Amino acid sequence: MVIIGAGPGGIYAAYEFVKKAPNLKVAIFEAGHQLQDRKCPIDGKKVLSCINCKDCAIMKGFGGAGAFSDGKYNITNDFGGTLYEYIGKRKAIELMEYVDEINIANGGAGTKMYTTAGSEFKKLCMQNKLTLLDANVRHLGTDINYRVLENLYAKLEHNVDFFFNTAVDKLEIIDGGFKIIAENGKSVTCEYCIASVGRSGSKWMEKVCEELNIPTRSNRVDLGVRVELPAPLFEHLTEELYESKIVYQTEKFEDRVRTFCMNPHGIVVHENTNGIVTVNGHSYEDPARHTENTNFALLVSKHFSEPFKDSNGYGESIARLSNMLGGGVIVQRFGDLERGRRSNEKRIQEGTVRPTLNATPGDLSLVIPKRILDGIIEMIYALDKIAPGTANDDTLLYGVEVKFYNMEACLDENLETCHKGLYIIGDGSGVTHSLSHSSASGVYVANKIIEKQ
Ligand SMILES: Cc1cc2nc3c(=O)[nH]c(=O)nc-3n(C[C@H](O)[C@H](O)[C@H](O)COP(=O)(O)OP(=O)(O)OC[C@H]3O[C@@H](n4cnc5c(N)ncnc54)[C@H](O)[C@@H]3O)c2cc1C
Repeated sequence: MVIIGAGPGGIYAAYEFVKKAPNLKVAIFEAGHQLQDRKCPIDGKKVLSCINCKDCAIMKGFGGAGAFSDGKYNITNDFGGTLYEYIGKRKAIELMEYVDEINIANGGAGTKMYTTAGSEFKKLCMQNKLTLLDANVRHLGTDINYRVLENLYAKLEHNVDFFFNTAVDKLEIIDGGFKIIAENGKSVTCEYCIASVGRSGSKWMEKVCEELNIPTRSNRVDLGVRVELPAPLFEHLTEELYESKIVYQTEKFEDRVRTFCMNPHGIVVHENTNGIVTVNGHSYEDPARHTENTNFALLVSKHFSEPFKDSNGYGESIARLSNMLGGGVIVQRFGDLERGRRSNEKRIQEGTVRPTLNATPGDLSLVIPKRILDGIIEMIYALDKIAPGTANDDTLLYGVEVKFYNMEACLDENLETCHKGLYIIGDGSGVTHSLSHSSASGVYVANKIIEKQ
């Protein structure tokens, strides 16, 4: 049994194997480092911004893209993926709750579960043309999330053969199973293979699907900005819900703009996907590491129709434009954007919101397509009604934030491809886009394989 990728999808699949089929021989190939060796070179002194490491320590290694994330496990079918379309809504929720139990048992005890059930904000949102999506959210925080990963690794390491810094190059179909060939020449054969390569493995996954004639489709990318403002402005929402997923339908184009990844008292960070620098955010559970700001993304989903197929290429081009103009991520005051002028160091420094990311002051209107930017501006004014101050001049907008979606591989209800024994799970399958959904898909497929033993 080989698992490719040690992100949440791969880890929780391995956890199930070790727990329920301890005699099964399991190997994990992981392109990145083991957990303790994952170090991003940005230190705020000598290295101030992304230097495009070959294997990004933030995205790759044990824990996957989730290792330094905020550890928000959203238990919901409303967002975070479409796993329920394959396995049913009830099963999907059951599995996400099961993953939550594993997290609690491995260091997450004492962390808070937030819920939108019965929240007064649903009504307030409705009154202002906004929709609050339903979810239960376990917020582990970056520090506890890391501890959970350490504990999970300690449980797995004696039963699972880990091959770190070992990116898989080729996946071949052989009699009775598969041959896995790594870039460093190492190769193994197996009866079952689970590919769980996440977003960083998207290009590789596309190549494999093409080589093995696994049908795929791809037509979506989410584009937008990360908003940073003083934490008290959103405290009434974040204290009750922690993360609120709010959707707004724009009047002008009837596009849907949504909040994404809210980080109370958090920091804004760089994210490097395949050499392109975009923006993201996280926050720590430990109050000593809290900042005075809250950040969240505002995203617009862009769906394309035939003949255009390269939605990720479109998102990459826009991100590249911001990298070209800003040398990385651009930051702009909302007031400057509204006045049609770029932000500069002086205006940012004189503003009341102190940026938590060292980004280049610039003009986002030169980067983000008008339709998307108009939608974001409309949404900021809509949010201003439920959280007055959101539309203040000093509110900071970082761009661009892009959510790339992996092509969606054609899978059956077991998340199995047309090649029996080959499963694709997690974000690499295009089915999930979150910690809880990708972890749940790992548990699901592991159990399907165990049933066959
Ligand atoms: C900064 C940040 C914050 C986030 N915050 C949250 C959050 O709070 N809540 C939430 O739900 N989601 C969050 N996410 C998203 C979440 O991390 C992902 O949805 C989740 O990690 C997906 O899990 P996965 O196992 O499918 O893939 P990944 O976590 O991407 O793991 C895939 C692994 O496969 C490895 N790999 C890739 N290609 C190969 C190959 N060819 N050979 C061997 N190994 C390979 C990679 O190195 C990687 O370690 C965040 C993401 C980032 C970057």
